[in-house]
Amino acid sequence: MTRAILILGLGLACAVSASVAAPADCWVLRKHGQSAESRSCFERLMRSRDAWFRAEGFWGLEEWDQANEQFRLATQQAGVEPVVKVRWGRLLHERFNSSEAADLFREALAKDPSSAEAYVGLALVSADGFDGKAAGYLAKAIELNPKSAEPHELLADLALENDEREMAAAEADKAIALSYDALDALAIHAALELLADRPPDAWFDKIRKINPGSGETYARVARQLELHYRYEDAVVYYRKAIEAAPRLWSAHSALGVDLMRLGQDDEPRRELELSYNNGYRDAATVNSLRLLDSYKNFDTIRDDTTVLKLDKSETALLEPYLQSELHAILATYQKKYKMTLPAPVQVEVYPNHEDFAVRTMGMPGLGALGVTFGEVVAMDSPSAHRPGDFNWGATLWHEMSHVYILTATNHRVPRWFTEGLAVHEEGAHSAEWRDRLTPEVMAAIRDKKLLPVTRLDRGFVSPEYPAQVIVSYFQAGAMCDFVAEKWGEPKLLDMVHSYAKLLSTSEVVRQNLGVAPEDFDKQYLAWIENKYGAEAAHFDQWREKLKVLIAAAQQKQFDAVLAQGPGVLALYPEYVDTSNVYELMADADKAKGDKAAETATLLAYERAGGESPNLLKRLASLQEDAGKQEEATATLEQLIYIYPVHDDDLHRRLGDLLLAQKHYDGAIREYRALVASNPVDKAGAQYELAQAYFAANEKDKAEESVLAALETAPGYRPAQKLLLQLQHPQIPKQ
Ligand SMILES: [Zn+2]
Repeated sequence: MTRAILILGLGLACAVSASVAAPADCWVLRKHGQSAESRSCFERLMRSRDAWFRAEGFWGLEEWDQANEQFRLATQQAGVEPVVKVRWGRLLHERFNSSEAADLFREALAKDPSSAEAYVGLALVSADGFDGKAAGYLAKAIELNPKSAEPHELLADLALENDEREMAAAEADKAIALSYDALDALAIHAALELLADRPPDAWFDKIRKINPGSGETYARVARQLELHYRYEDAVVYYRKAIEAAPRLWSAHSALGVDLMRLGQDDEPRRELELSYNNGYRDAATVNSLRLLDSYKNFDTIRDDTTVLKLDKSETALLEPYLQSELHAILATYQKKYKMTLPAPVQVEVYPNHEDFAVRTMGMPGLGALGVTFGEVVAMDSPSAHRPGDFNWGATLWHEMSHVYILTATNHRVPRWFTEGLAVHEEGAHSAEWRDRLTPEVMAAIRDKKLLPVTRLDRGFVSPEYPAQVIVSYFQAGAMCDFVAEKWGEPKLLDMVHSYAKLLSTSEVVRQNLGVAPEDFDKQYLAWIENKYGAEAAHFDQWREKLKVLIAAAQQKQFDAVLAQGPGVLALYPEYVDTSNVYELMADADKAKGDKAAETATLLAYERAGGESPNLLKRLASLQEDAGKQEEATATLEQLIYIYPVHDDDLHRRLGDLLLAQKHYDGAIREYRALVASNPVDKAGAQYELAQAYFAANEKDKAEESVLAALETAPGYRPAQKLLLQLQHPQIPKQ
């Protein structure tokens, strides 16, 4: 939002004279183009006797530190107007210090509770953090000052973030009615045209007439395109922003970040360094540069259809798993979505969650675990999480669904649908990976907090309560499950194609499912009620009973746990997190020496989607002891998707099981992983790998591995024997 609106709203405008200028006049000049005139205006302000005016002058001249210093002086004076604090807050907000900015807005409000501008400031800070509070602050600002255009411009921007296009247009119109030069409102209209694939020229003509140098408006359009997954189109508008205002460092930085999302390195570095060297050092710029630097620690592995970027320390271990999973996914989705990707897909895997987080900065409600930008997927490595908290397999299937859907729709798809479909695909691939019915989701169902389909995007972008993003993922996924169940799986692909034709959610539902969105909501809620209604109604009862069960388990009252456990479990069988009933019952079974019951309970835990490595390993041991090698293998194979890092024992056990079943490829994969994990007994691992190669009749590789084992431990007898056998096959085995 341009500052002029704020100042004019305060009624501070003074006449411009040759020697004295008020901030308002300068900002108006600035708004209508950065010119020699506005520069001299700011220079005059800078020489004012009033510290506040000097601050505004320095700010206009981009002398940030001096502006900050003058604001400090101005606010130290007795009887300072609250507006000065608001202005200082706006400077700090612009200079990446949102927390102090918010403090200043609050201080201003404490002095003047009717300060609409302070509420606007708070809304700006909230909007940056996607915390869902911005709209409330703006409503307050409008109530206090109905004549100000800025809150409407911000509301329009927020509505478009949520893809509520009609509301965005309406708010933009209100701003324009209040102020003919509401540039940001004009930008929202231009963005709306672009998002609907209509020519935006008329709006840009108006913008240029008001201010030919307004790079900010192009940047605002670009940002909305980016938030609607239109990364390549966003590049075009960031470039226009820079062309209009070459010193708009925020746009240089945003261009760099956007190009990184498209998988580029060189131009992003130039743009980001340029911003950084010109003092634009917000978190996104600094962290993105740091991430670019860290790419030297990555290996890039290419084949015809995939590009993998893996941290050098993890390549040997993770590459085989990721590579083969990725190819399986490509084969499945190619058939399912009836399309091939136009270019190889790039998957980046970050062992440091902070590095991954840089990839998602400024993106609301997006991937805690993975994120897709067109044909680039960035995700966490399993090593970035605690064992059991993350499933890289499910994440990869999820993100790859986005790759296809974004490509199929040319990035014209609402968030709820692409997320819902991706969640649906996880469960479609593996029942254990279906989205969890977590306590937050259960509470939302109980409290009837699910959103109508046409407003579901809001739950991702502007959550009204902290868990709403998680709830919205579940809801969107369950909506796609519902469509597949009631109308058939192919309907989902029909919906994809309708979105590609730019139909709205309302039209997509009507045309493909033959019902009005309101009716769809009713049917969906009835379906949810039927599935989970009873559980949701008993949610509090479940919580109370679980507490009692936990207490019984702590007191080792195993009979009580086993007697009451099934009843508690039946109230909420999907719960597999901390202190779940499965674990309490399995422990009681173990204490009573009932291995069959313990196995059955742990198996039910696994089927319900439980992913604790300890519990799954325990299940595998029970299965192995009972001679059920195939079942034990399947259990450990699930674990590979959960936590294949830092676990020699897992790879050795799985390798042994696979070798015993003559599944040589699998055994080789696991022993290779074992060697790559750098186990304490490295020679032993290399020897086991050699044995698997030998069994698979790959003698050269067997020899290579056995030599590696002997290099590590020259006196290692079993390896010496195997080498002898390999080099002199005629000598009989001893
Ligand atoms: Zn997603």
